[in-house]
Amino acid sequence: MPLFGKTRKGRDQVQPALVEEVNSSEFSAKLSYAGKCSESVRLKAGAKLNERLGNMLFGYVQGESELVEPLPVELGGATPSIVRMPGGAQWIKYHHGRSPVTRHALPVLEIVAAVAPVFETLVLGMLDGQVDTAGYPDFNAIVGGVATHWDEITGDIIVRAVVGWGGRGARGDTDRNAARILGGLFNNVAGDSHAIGTVVVERPQPAVGPGGITCGHCGFNSGHERAFYCPKCGMRMLRA
Ligand SMILES: [Zn+2]
Repeated sequence: MPLFGKTRKGRDQVQPALVEEVNSSEFSAKLSYAGKCSESVRLKAGAKLNERLGNMLFGYVQGESELVEPLPVELGGATPSIVRMPGGAQWIKYHHGRSPVTRHALPVLEIVAAVAPVFETLVLGMLDGQVDTAGYPDFNAIVGGVATHWDEITGDIIVRAVVGWGGRGARGDTDRNAARILGGLFNNVAGDSHAIGTVVVERPQPAVGPGGITCGHCGFNSGHERAFYCPKCGMRMLRA
């Protein structure tokens, strides 16, 4: 008999009995995200639109707000998920230069699908709570501002207030605070000098697959046959 076999047999005899269950250490994380949107307000376009959008955060934003333009068409698959490639890399490429508050606010609002970065322009800032030493909002901080796109039929601007929060844990009063801030932001939107009134509009839909109507200016491809204006850049859509 070869030596190897003999040795193994010897080891088998001293092996401990198999255990049914090992002593283990447990790990878990409960992540929770939430957001709220107000009704939409129709606004006539006009001069200094970005400045007016920024002013809609007045009285609620702590520090600076940041304008986030819609994703370029070639980055349409961008997602704030590091395990989804190439979307995760696209997201980082497009947003890496933004403030910590914006880089926190965008994933929160995108995860709960409160905003549509493919065609919406956002103005975001810190609305309530604390930031850590690196400038990132706490889990119970409330972030947000306004989200806007161009109405596909009239070419007016459609604006709504949007807030979000979340991460590890939640606090009992966060929902109530968020509702109060959302109401204040909505009043600012409705109080814009070019506001016409609240409106219910069908959400723009990016076309999936071939077909649809393409914007000759920014390349956005709308799945709505009724799109006369591009929801992303506000220009007239091309028609075949
Ligand atoms: Zn366009």
